[in-house]
Amino acid sequence: MKTLKSRFIIIFAITAFINVASAYQIQGIDKEMFPQNVSYDPNIPSPELFLGRKLGAAPVRHHELVEYLRMLANLSDRLTVETIGYSHERRPILFLVATSSSNQNNMEQIKNEHLNLSDSRKKQVITDKMPVVTWLNYGVHGAESSGMDAALPTAYYLAAAMGDPINHLLENSVILITAVFNPDGHSNRISWLDTFSSKIPNPNPDHIEHNYDGRLARTNHYGFDLNRQWISITQPEPRAWIKKWHEWRPNLSVDYHEMGSSQTYYFSPGVPTRNHPLIPDTGLELMEKIVKPAEEFLDSQKRLYFHGDRYDHFFLGKGSSFPLVNGGVGMLHEASSARGVMVETQNGIRTYRENIIKHFRTSIANAIGAVNNKLELLQYQKNFYQNAKNKAKDHPIKAYVISAGKDRSRLYHFVDLLNYHRINVSYLKENITIDDFEYEKDFSVVVDLNQDQHTLIRGLFDLATEFEDSKFYDVSTWTLPLAYGMNFNAIENNNQKEKLLGDIYDNKKPLVSAPDKPEYAYAFEWSDYYSPRALYNILDKGLLARVAMNPFIGSTKKGSHDFDRGTIVVSFDRQDASENDIHNIMKDIAQDDGIFIHSLTSGKSVTGTQNPDLGSQFIKAIHKPTILLVAGREMDWYNVGEIWHLLDVRMNIPVTLIDRLQMNNIDLNRYTHIIYAGGQYSNYQPKYLNNIHEWVNSGGTLIGIRQGADWISKNIFNKNTDKSPKRFSKEKANNRRNKERDAMKKDQPRYSYSEKEARDPLNVIGGAIFSGDLDITHPIGFGYTNENIAIHKNTTSLLPTSKNPYATVIAYNDAPIISGYASETNQEKLKNTPALIADRRGKGSIILFADDPNFRATWYGTNKLFLNSLFFSLVFDPPRNN
Ligand SMILES: [Zn+2]
Repeated sequence: MKTLKSRFIIIFAITAFINVASAYQIQGIDKEMFPQNVSYDPNIPSPELFLGRKLGAAPVRHHELVEYLRMLANLSDRLTVETIGYSHERRPILFLVATSSSNQNNMEQIKNEHLNLSDSRKKQVITDKMPVVTWLNYGVHGAESSGMDAALPTAYYLAAAMGDPINHLLENSVILITAVFNPDGHSNRISWLDTFSSKIPNPNPDHIEHNYDGRLARTNHYGFDLNRQWISITQPEPRAWIKKWHEWRPNLSVDYHEMGSSQTYYFSPGVPTRNHPLIPDTGLELMEKIVKPAEEFLDSQKRLYFHGDRYDHFFLGKGSSFPLVNGGVGMLHEASSARGVMVETQNGIRTYRENIIKHFRTSIANAIGAVNNKLELLQYQKNFYQNAKNKAKDHPIKAYVISAGKDRSRLYHFVDLLNYHRINVSYLKENITIDDFEYEKDFSVVVDLNQDQHTLIRGLFDLATEFEDSKFYDVSTWTLPLAYGMNFNAIENNNQKEKLLGDIYDNKKPLVSAPDKPEYAYAFEWSDYYSPRALYNILDKGLLARVAMNPFIGSTKKGSHDFDRGTIVVSFDRQDASENDIHNIMKDIAQDDGIFIHSLTSGKSVTGTQNPDLGSQFIKAIHKPTILLVAGREMDWYNVGEIWHLLDVRMNIPVTLIDRLQMNNIDLNRYTHIIYAGGQYSNYQPKYLNNIHEWVNSGGTLIGIRQGADWISKNIFNKNTDKSPKRFSKEKANNRRNKERDAMKKDQPRYSYSEKEARDPLNVIGGAIFSGDLDITHPIGFGYTNENIAIHKNTTSLLPTSKNPYATVIAYNDAPIISGYASETNQEKLKNTPALIADRRGKGSIILFADDPNFRATWYGTNKLFLNSLFFSLVFDPPRNN
């Protein structure tokens, strides 16, 4: 219903457009852009009229997009618009529903009947009257901006076109449009293009307009690739649209992108050998039928395109794969980027406008493709959910029992994620011990595989161990309980499942009661996910805090309690703050972080001298970290962003990002920790290397991750350890000569060029899960109770072996791969080598992570290793005589 006020605004707005129109001498409808032989509602302004320029003349800015779509929804009874969320930078994410006005008036019923298809309890009869639901996604990668521009003509066409074809399309479908999935990345991109655009478009690929650090715009504010977020949904943007996606369960979802400029035009289906095994063949067959109108359009335009030789439907966290394990069809479209308004390529000049036309026209074509296959799509969805029971019956695993140990926050986030995907989670009815791990009912949950989301559960829980193809567009595995560091076991017996399966779990943020005011000190354990946030808060408020290097038994107001290694103790001794102020801080922590705080009544150990007292040398002082995170164009923006996000958003810990190019001019003494994440380090020999040596020796902690660890190990770590003078070795020289001779010999392999595509990826670890042996007595391993740890791995480089026998906090296990693909050679090469090294240098420390402990903000299970390196890097000692 439109209010009088909004009518007034609309009339005002239209008057303004007419003025714009005359000013720009716009003539009618853009014939190249829009289908011919269609008339358009004259009361609805075209994108050209609204923008005051032709589509493609300059990219559409976010505010233009928002204004235009809101206006269309106001003017047309075929469209509604809703703001479904906001980006980190506070930009709205708009969601449009387009259908016939009669369907709009009947929306509740249409939606209910449609949702019944994905609910096995409802026996919805499919009728010819039911519309098919199509979802068009634009701009999950903000840099690929022609998709966002295509949203304007798409919405305009759906609102204003007149005649039989559009009536048929709208009567038979509900079309959902998320005009911009990633508004911050998009705005970043457009700002660059507008800053360097010329009045005379410059196609020279060397021109600055075309040479932008696209990673900043591909990703969201914190550097997350949102097209890897369909499963993990750790960011506000995907949380907004996944909520809507499940609310609608579209039959067809299409994702619009751009790829490299030298390609042609890609759309699904992808590489046939790289479909995830859980994707039903029928879904893929339907896809081939749906794309027909899009193929016909491109043929009619005599435009080159391709399917099948590049992109795949393997990683289920992408917009083109996720729908395929949720009863729908997902598709990907990729236009060759024009990197601005136009650019020279090997295939001639590529224009932005051409991409808008292709994306817009194939959007409509795909919506038509869905209508052409409407009954099949609806039936497919219904069967998919009705069959869930049979699939569950045939599957050997009946349920999973899952625990995060004593870490309620991690359990909360894990269950929240499953619930977000409409997966039911249940209480564990009774304690059970499996493989030596006791699942306590107060700290564990059960996931029943016999539920409508059976396929998705398997997509999240299955271990990936067999592959038809060794090349992956993204990671080869993403087993969620491993990422979250959960203990989990499969239950393969229905009777046992029934014994364990309780009521539906009521997932709530952990709530703990405020601590009693103690006589002597406060203590909290390090097991909770948010303990680092609590500790930083304490240190930031100027309180003195200490960490227990060994377990101890303390007397608390509620009796004696066994405290584990890593327990944080805040006593009243020597504090500047008053006891009341300290108590208030502790109360806040209990409330905000959900951390249980013990009130200690005495400094004396309950067991006398067998365990340390609170004043023991084994309870060591810790200091507030001041963190420098090296950023910049040479650094892996994903890695950097993940750290920034973890500290800034989750842990409330400030961090300073400094461009690597500026590191020569920095006063390092301002910082206690410097982090070098993954990135390009070849030949990186900066002038300030010596300053880093000195800074570490005088007490700084240097942290390296992935290539950052390799660089530190070559330039700093090994420089100090290897004190023996280099001696000429005859043996070594002979070996080298022999190697060179071998290389000349005939037994060098020779392969047919046709094998290259298949052989190239053999040595890559594109993202697999490895297991490691964690030393939980080392301060960098504090907070963990399980020595067997799952690690996300996507490099093949090796960390050096430290001469310090206590320095290897994690070593890969003997048979290291748990899930995902790594060649036999790589597994052999990596087994038993260090995955995490922590060693002292002078007064400081060097900590090296072979892998990324913060991968995609999904690896809750390894975040704490990284956070430990910020708080506990100086509490462990080097070996004697080091
Ligand atoms: Zn993309």
